[in-house]
Amino acid sequence: MSAVAVCFVCQWCAQIGAERAGRDRLQLPGGFVMVPVPCAGAVPVDVVLRAFADGAEGVAVLGCHLGGCHHNQGNRGASVRLALLGATLATLGVHPHRLLVSFGSAHEGHQFASVVEGFMTRLGALSQGADLALLRGRLEGAALAPGCDLPPREPEAGAPSPLPADILEEARRLLASGEVGHVLGLAVTDGGVLPEVFSTPQELERAVAASKYPLAKTFWRFMGGMPQGTSAALVCRPCDARAVREQTKMAQYEGQTVRCLTLGCSEEDAHKCGCANPGVDAPSYVALPDPLADLDPAGRIAFWRDSFQRCIKCYGCRNVCPVCICPSCRLEDETFVPPGILPPPPLPWHACRALHVADRCVGCGACQDACPSGLPLLALHGSLSGHLHRESAYIAGMGMTSPIAAAMAAQGPCGGPPPAWGEPGGARGADREVRHG
Ligand code: SF4
Ligand code: SF4
Repeated sequence: MSAVAVCFVCQWCAQIGAERAGRDRLQLPGGFVMVPVPCAGAVPVDVVLRAFADGAEGVAVLGCHLGGCHHNQGNRGASVRLALLGATLATLGVHPHRLLVSFGSAHEGHQFASVVEGFMTRLGALSQGADLALLRGRLEGAALAPGCDLPPREPEAGAPSPLPADILEEARRLLASGEVGHVLGLAVTDGGVLPEVFSTPQELERAVAASKYPLAKTFWRFMGGMPQGTSAALVCRPCDARAVREQTKMAQYEGQTVRCLTLGCSEEDAHKCGCANPGVDAPSYVALPDPLADLDPAGRIAFWRDSFQRCIKCYGCRNVCPVCICPSCRLEDETFVPPGILPPPPLPWHACRALHVADRCVGCGACQDACPSGLPLLALHGSLSGHLHRESAYIAGMGMTSPIAAAMAAQGPCGGPPPAWGEPGGARGADREVRHG
């Protein structure tokens, strides 16, 4: 029986190629369903994942030449997103032949016939492997034990210590001068180490540092309840400071001024986090070796199958993540991720979340620390961050650009230079000041 595949075809090239192939009576393989789309950029990665989850053995996205997009730069954005999807599938152990992304190769009849023929032939040669079961969310037979050993992570906040003198002095100065109205940090209370908002220099006497405590999401929630014009500083870990930058890129602090007073982490704390570089403004776990590097695809499939099997769909990973802040979340879409199913289908759930935060995950590890089932989530997020770093030297939170936005903004709509990221009229205008002290 021939393989079943879904081909998303751009109406401006591959769809025309398909029509010409038919008109020229070229032989086409069976087993593929063609879905015309206005642009390759209109194919969300979620939909590709859903096609796999619903039974496709392979998915192809065929678009126009890069640089020849009828919707300006739609296919450039698609190329980055779909490359990330390919990296996700590779991390999970899915055979690379199951996803074909091709630009400009199928706009003539014979080209379309040859691309589809090659794709379907390669798919047909694959066995009905374990990767298909993983793609479709069939996890029967999964063991409840982890598939390989990863370094244990410290779940609780580290022991509190006094704030470094320079940070304390700067926080006091900011409050005393009125440069900021609030400083959010940590204090020791009856309940332990908890976040606290300090509004006077005197109150800062109670501030402490505890580098394992994530604060960027708390800060985002606090500022979300404050009016425009509010200025505040966050005393935090380097990864939290990078998360605040990512939140800023998502226009979360419009009309507000935020400042991060960044504490470097100790080597000991960095080791507990699995962080390779705990410096004040330094790249984090992208430098860590891939913990799954020694596993072949079959080992990866077993590892993820066993891990995903333990997920109880509590949404803890999403809720704690400082950059998972969309007002409506695809993971709650009942047609996409049916309610009441445990464990959730891994592709729509885990791969979708990883892809949605791929270019803004700062590797803080809050998701992995929060997971009650001990899922090794950083192995998935880290592999995508590593892919972006290798492909475009990108590290989330280290600047105000994003590879996806940069790909789409490579050329302005009229051929001129596009507005820069963060400038008025840019992809995500940001009129607030962000300084990292
Ligand atoms: S490590 Fe997890 S919690 Fe932290 S930014 Fe990445 S996805 Fe979000
Ligand atoms: S925190 Fe863990 S168990 Fe809860 S939804 Fe996320 S991966 Fe699943």
